[in-house]
Amino acid sequence: MQKEKIGFIGLGNMGHPMAKNLEKAGFPLSVYNRSSEKTKDFKEKSTVYTQISDLVKNSSIIFTMLTDDHAAKAVYEDILKSDIAGKLFIDMSTISPQATAELSGAVKIKEAAFIDAPVAGSTVPAAEGTLIIMAGGEEKDLSRAMPYLEKLGKAVKHLGENGKGIAGKLSINYFLSAIYQGLAETILFADQLGIDRTAMLEIINESASGSGATKVKTPMLIKNQYEPAFALDLMLKDILLAQDAGADFPLSKVLSETYQSAHDEGFGKDDVIGIINYLKNQPEK
Ligand code: NAP
Repeated sequence: MQKEKIGFIGLGNMGHPMAKNLEKAGFPLSVYNRSSEKTKDFKEKSTVYTQISDLVKNSSIIFTMLTDDHAAKAVYEDILKSDIAGKLFIDMSTISPQATAELSGAVKIKEAAFIDAPVAGSTVPAAEGTLIIMAGGEEKDLSRAMPYLEKLGKAVKHLGENGKGIAGKLSINYFLSAIYQGLAETILFADQLGIDRTAMLEIINESASGSGATKVKTPMLIKNQYEPAFALDLMLKDILLAQDAGADFPLSKVLSETYQSAHDEGFGKDDVIGIINYLKNQPEK
C-alpha cells in the first residue's frame, strides 16, 4: 500500500479534534489553519504549515473542514494553484451541492480525486472518532480514504457519486434543525407550566422522544449557557442550503424564519440550542 501523507486544512471546532485523531493514530500529518493560534497543539507531533501550497505539496491525501461555500472556495482557489495530480481531496465541510460540484469538477480536471464527506455528529463525536460520515465519490477513492476515515467516524456511508454525501448531510441537518427548535419550545413550555427543567430533560431523554441530539444539549439547557459546539449560524446556513436544494415543506419555512430571526437578533454565535433564548424573548401573540 502507498504510504500516504495526510494534510488537514481547517482546525475549527470540528477540524481540530478530527485532525488530532489522525495524529493520535500515528499517520504522518501536516496541518494548516488560516488563523495560526489553532495550530499550536500540533507543533509537537505534526508539521504546521503557514501556506496552503506547502501543505498541498507535502501531502497526498488532503482533508478540508471549513465553514461554508465562501471558505471552501477560498481555500480550494489556493489549492488549485498547485500541481495536484494524483492527490485525493476529502471535503468534510457542509457546503452547497453547487459548490461541491464546482470543487470536485475543478479538482478532477487537474487529475486529482475528490470525495465529499460531510459528517453527522458534533464536537464530542469528533473528539471520540464516532462521527457518521456521508460520502459521495468513486469507490476506488473511498477505499483509498477508508483507513483514515475509520479513525474519524464509527460509520462511513457511501451514498453514490460526488454530491451525494452533501445531499445526505443536508437531509439529516434538516431533521436536526427541527429537533432543536422542537426541543427548545418544549422546554420553554414546560418552564411555563412550572416543571423543573432538569426533571423535564430527564423525562425527554428517557422517553422515546430522547435522542443523541437531545442528550448532548441537556447540560447547556440546564446551565442556560450556550458556548458554541455547533453555532446557530451554521444551522441557519444548513437550512438555507436545504431550501435552496428543494426542501419546501410546512416546517422548512418556519425553521428558516426562526433561525434567521435568531441570527438577526444576535444569537448566531451561540450554540444552536441557544435558540431557546431567542424564542423566550418573543412577544406573546
Ligand atoms: P468553525 O469552528 O467555525 O471552523 C471553521 C474553519 O474554517 C476554521 O478553521 C476557519 O479558520 C476556517 N475558515 C473559515 N473561513 C475561511 C477562509 N475564508 N479561508 C480559510 N479558512 C477559513 O466551524 P466548525 O464547527 O468546525 O464547522 C466546520 C464545518 O463542519 C461547517 O461546514 C459546519 O456546518 C460543519 N459541521 C459542524 C458541526 C459542529 O457541531 N460544529 C457538526 C457537523 C458539521 P479560522 O480559524 O481562521 O477562522
